[in-house]
Amino acid sequence: MGRNNKYAEVYIDIKAFDIDHAFDYRIPPDLSSDIDIGRIVQVPFKNRIEVGYIVKIKDESELKDREIKDILKIVENRPVFDPERLELINWISEYYIQPLGSVIKFFLPPGGKYKQSITSPRVQLKFKDFITLNRNRYNEIKDKINWKRNSSQKKIIDYLISGCEVLKEKLVKDTGSSYSSLASLADKNIISVVKKRQRRDFRYEYRPDKDLKKKKIILNSYQKNALCSIDNAIQKNIFHKFLIEGVTGSGKTDIYIAACRKVIEKKKRALILTPEISLIPQLFSRFESELGSRVCVYHSNMNEAERYERWLGIWENEFDVIIGTRSSIFTPIGNLGMIILDEEHDPSYKEGTRVRYNTQDVAIKLGEILNIPVVMGSATPNIVTRYRAEKENDFTLLKIPVKAQSSSPLETQVVDLKKIDRLKEDTAITAKLFTAIREELEKNNKVIIFLNRRGYSNFVICNKCGSVPKCSACDLSYNYHSDRRKLVCHHCGREQNYAGRCPVCGADNIFLCGTGIQRVQSKLHMRFKNTPILRMDSDITVKKKSHQEILSKFISPGGSILIGTQMVAKGLDIEDVTLVGVINCDSMLGLPDYHMNERVYQLITQVSGRAGRKRKKGRVIIQTYNPESSVMKNILASDYESFYRQELASRKELCYPPFSNLVNIIISGKEENKVKKDIKELFAEISKDIRTGSSILGPAPAPFYKINLFYRWHIIIKSKNIEYSNKILTKILKRFKKFDENKIIIDVDPVWIL
Ligand code: ADP
Ligand code: ZN
Repeated sequence: MGRNNKYAEVYIDIKAFDIDHAFDYRIPPDLSSDIDIGRIVQVPFKNRIEVGYIVKIKDESELKDREIKDILKIVENRPVFDPERLELINWISEYYIQPLGSVIKFFLPPGGKYKQSITSPRVQLKFKDFITLNRNRYNEIKDKINWKRNSSQKKIIDYLISGCEVLKEKLVKDTGSSYSSLASLADKNIISVVKKRQRRDFRYEYRPDKDLKKKKIILNSYQKNALCSIDNAIQKNIFHKFLIEGVTGSGKTDIYIAACRKVIEKKKRALILTPEISLIPQLFSRFESELGSRVCVYHSNMNEAERYERWLGIWENEFDVIIGTRSSIFTPIGNLGMIILDEEHDPSYKEGTRVRYNTQDVAIKLGEILNIPVVMGSATPNIVTRYRAEKENDFTLLKIPVKAQSSSPLETQVVDLKKIDRLKEDTAITAKLFTAIREELEKNNKVIIFLNRRGYSNFVICNKCGSVPKCSACDLSYNYHSDRRKLVCHHCGREQNYAGRCPVCGADNIFLCGTGIQRVQSKLHMRFKNTPILRMDSDITVKKKSHQEILSKFISPGGSILIGTQMVAKGLDIEDVTLVGVINCDSMLGLPDYHMNERVYQLITQVSGRAGRKRKKGRVIIQTYNPESSVMKNILASDYESFYRQELASRKELCYPPFSNLVNIIISGKEENKVKKDIKELFAEISKDIRTGSSILGPAPAPFYKINLFYRWHIIIKSKNIEYSNKILTKILKRFKKFDENKIIIDVDPVWIL
């Protein structure tokens, strides 16, 4: 432990090992001036050389000197994450109970470059020569040169003098000069040659609004007021949260754009997050037409090379505004001045597979660390966000109750599916909906049909009275287990016998829900033979650019129908859409998840907002078995406030978020007995240690009980002090080493508990 030595804590980038902690390495004197937090280095590890990331620098190590090895080499000449991002990394790792190593991964350049760089980089960048004129030098010596004899050189200068840098090949071609003339100008230091990365063009072809550039928008008083509050935080350089609760079409995007201008004026940058890739093209074209070319897009549907190049561009501060999906929160934006989350209520903001983080909360944390405003916008805010906006002092609610462009109000009609005679009428496309579609198509208008994909077939609904049996303790619908003929609550494990009769009215006319989107498509095909009928769901849009193709077919002139899942609910701003049909959303209301009322409210409001956006009048037809439920009534009255109050009251009664935080712990494995054994032992440990302020539900079979041969059981912790209970849970999980064969998932603040 020599006094002059400095040490670094290094995270090693290997997956297969259970090494979720940093290792100490010595910083050799010749590297000491270049070592910072966030640097990528090569270190000896076991008998190999591995890549690692520096997370701490210190004067002393607890290890003996001879046990410590030297850092071999610095791989990247700048830090890939700064100390602020490191603070964020630590927070994500602690709050979401995830290995730090997996969190760091999000912050690295895409493509696993550093891991590979020891052998060969996977992403090849192209470099080209760019030429610029050195104006001072030229002015200095221009009179001393006989330009007549050097006319070819003069041509080059005349070309360069009016512009900025030019690609070498282009310069030679455009001026008809030779490479030797260039070389002699370079010798005289009149021009400079710089190697630069050649940039690919990622522009989107999809431009929905052709006259975008023509219109000049003057913000209305609501928009001005919102902008003014946000600008106040921008000018003061403070962390402050804003929730813009603006009805669909209230012009939230124009507030975002105006706020970005303020940020750019302060020589800072802005990040705009959106939940879906499909929303990016429209946002991008609006931002670009207002703010110019320093706007870029970043999302996971770009290929690796594109993403890597774009990441580098962001790192090199080439852009002022970055628009992207959730992963762009991890890009190395320098001097970030504001974060915006559009459609903040959207569950896609939750990463649901690897590290389960909520982008909203990560964004808020980053805003807090960087002292910058975080702006969230939605027509139907998340209940938790809305509640926080009311309660927290550094959170301002900005309401916009009117549409930006005057348009006639939507006409919303409901079809009570209980009253449909199934022998005479199709319950998927009822007579009323069919007639409405036909009328609109005859007028060359467009129709959107919405059907949620997450249809779940094994819950029951009474065809006579419309009731969905629910567990009395959790107020969540039971699932029907046909093998045991029981209704089971997947939340707390309670069971009830079930003999195929409705527990409320006794009717045996029981319906197992589940009409698929493809069935609806073929039904429409049969009835509207000559109309283009397009489908948009995640099965189709995995292909790159496919949703742009689908949309451009849909928007081409004439009548057409677009059927889709939640993807069609969001953002589409298409003039000719005059009818939105909701096939049925009861299957969602029946799902055993306390979020479902909120989701249904949000989805139907969003999808309804697609109709009648411009001059034409819009109408909405909602087919449901439960027109008298309070969610439906609030939807029909478009009364978010009343919906929010009712939902809040019922959550308070059952102590669901925002009155608690949930942690869902799922253990899964191929052998059911081992899964049960592990979950029971874990449950015992948790119940022993986490007592105050928490209740622990389960262990119960997860609602999706068997997936891909894996049996799943879960425990839900309802906590009133999440930081505290997560700390204890982390300790329990560290000593509880029984998951050799079983897998464990920790989901903090789950957006689905299915
Ligand atoms: P939101 O995102 O709130 O649903 P948008 O931002 O898409 O709404 O705005 C809806 C439409 O209203 C857009 O076409 C937009 O250009 C237009 N708009 C926004 N603000 C104004 C304004 N102040 N005056 C006129 N039109 C506006
Ligand atoms: Zn229950």
